[in-house]
Amino acid sequence: MLLNVFASSCCVTALLFGGAVDAHARAVSPEDSSGFVLVKLYAPEIQQEIRYYSTYNFVGERIAGYEAPCAILTKEATRALKHAADELAKKGYGLKIYDAYRPQKAVTHFVNWAKDLKDTRMQRDFYPDIDKSKLLGPYIAPRSGHSRGSTVDVTLTDLKTGKDVDMGGTFDFFGAKSHPDYKGTLSRDQLRSRRILRDAMERSGFRGIKTEWWHYTLKNEPYPNTYFTFPVSDLLFLPDKEKATPSAAGDPKPDTVAPADPSKAKPEEAESAQPAEKPAP
Ligand SMILES: [Zn+2]
Repeated sequence: MLLNVFASSCCVTALLFGGAVDAHARAVSPEDSSGFVLVKLYAPEIQQEIRYYSTYNFVGERIAGYEAPCAILTKEATRALKHAADELAKKGYGLKIYDAYRPQKAVTHFVNWAKDLKDTRMQRDFYPDIDKSKLLGPYIAPRSGHSRGSTVDVTLTDLKTGKDVDMGGTFDFFGAKSHPDYKGTLSRDQLRSRRILRDAMERSGFRGIKTEWWHYTLKNEPYPNTYFTFPVSDLLFLPDKEKATPSAAGDPKPDTVAPADPSKAKPEEAESAQPAEKPAP
């Protein structure tokens, strides 16, 4: 009975978002975290600053569903991100994650916040040029690709200093300055840094979007039709828990991580075909 529910749910999702149904897409329960891992266990060199666990984000408070400041991704996305980090390290750069898997509950929190036009406490930092009434739709939608578990928000760090590289704008800034190729006020170095990040991510199997320099989705994502609901919590992945033991067979391990193969990627998925994807963040 449950299987039927999920099967019909997937079909509905595919119809809604216009994507082709992947015959190999795994139908799983949205509560099932067994295909996911804690990124820090496989790529501890990647810094993490999980903004939605903190209060420094466009809402100004901890976001629902964030129970720990940890990045969680599918095994496949973790493997690809590790590949990008290895490649960037050769050039003296590190990666820092701002957000990874995002439970549906958090996305709903964003929508409810967007409807409350009186709460503009973080406007100065994140949307100074946009009236809050204009955020719902273009910037905030009822679903996000992050909930499928293979999308990550990242920036570059300098491996020598450990500091963030100047990307010409902050993560989650709502506006044209966040477009990767923004031709306005960005310096050559800032544009170059965005290209370095993009090149490494694309060579590792991710694709970016035109509106946010930090946002990347694994092209061949394992759960293209499932919007997961389990919380962002490291408790789900502790070894003494029955579920999702990181060392279980089949999980990626640092010494066995294979480079992502971009040639196996599915055809480019038009962002516009996914109204559920929130352009920012
Ligand atoms: Zn994102």
